[in-house]
Amino acid sequence: MSAQQERTFIALKPDAVQRNLVGEVIRRFEAKGFKLVGLKLVKPSVETAEEHYAEHKGKGFYKGLVDFITSGPVVAMVWQGKGVVASARKLIGATNPLTSEPGTIRGDLAVDVGRNVIHGSDSTDSAQREISLWFKEGEIADWTPVSNAWVYEN
Ligand code: GDP
Ligand code: MG
Repeated sequence: MSAQQERTFIALKPDAVQRNLVGEVIRRFEAKGFKLVGLKLVKPSVETAEEHYAEHKGKGFYKGLVDFITSGPVVAMVWQGKGVVASARKLIGATNPLTSEPGTIRGDLAVDVGRNVIHGSDSTDSAQREISLWFKEGEIADWTPVSNAWVYEN
């Protein structure tokens, strides 16, 4: 797999959809130079939400988190590009929006940790797991942006 084939899973949580921030967040990923290869609006099942957040099972905020993420439509996406997993985490900012740096998505667009707008995979292993949880194989479309030669040196 080439560096440019790295993929991450990004979800715009129900607060992002309700607050009309979908376009704003997608714009930031597009403007950075990453490639959108999967996109759908879904109301996740409790099973999907629990599996997605399995690492947090047993924590005090777990039930509220699952209730929240299943409460409304979520924009589930797969983004591709060199270093996209770590870079997306930087674009997103720290978990608590009150301490996320200005310039990051959470730093600019959110206040409360339980309403922090966006999810991004924390490692390439998590990304693989989350992409296969949320997307079927035929739902991911690879394509070649005409801008590739202007985003990548080689
Ligand atoms: P992330 O990877 O930055 O999204 O953060 P984590 O994986 O640690 O937590 C997953 C999600 O759970 C976060 O994005 C928050 O929405 C929520 N969360 C994490 N910690 C807390 C907390 O202390 N309180 C509440 N209410 N929600 C939390
Ligand atoms: Mg996390």
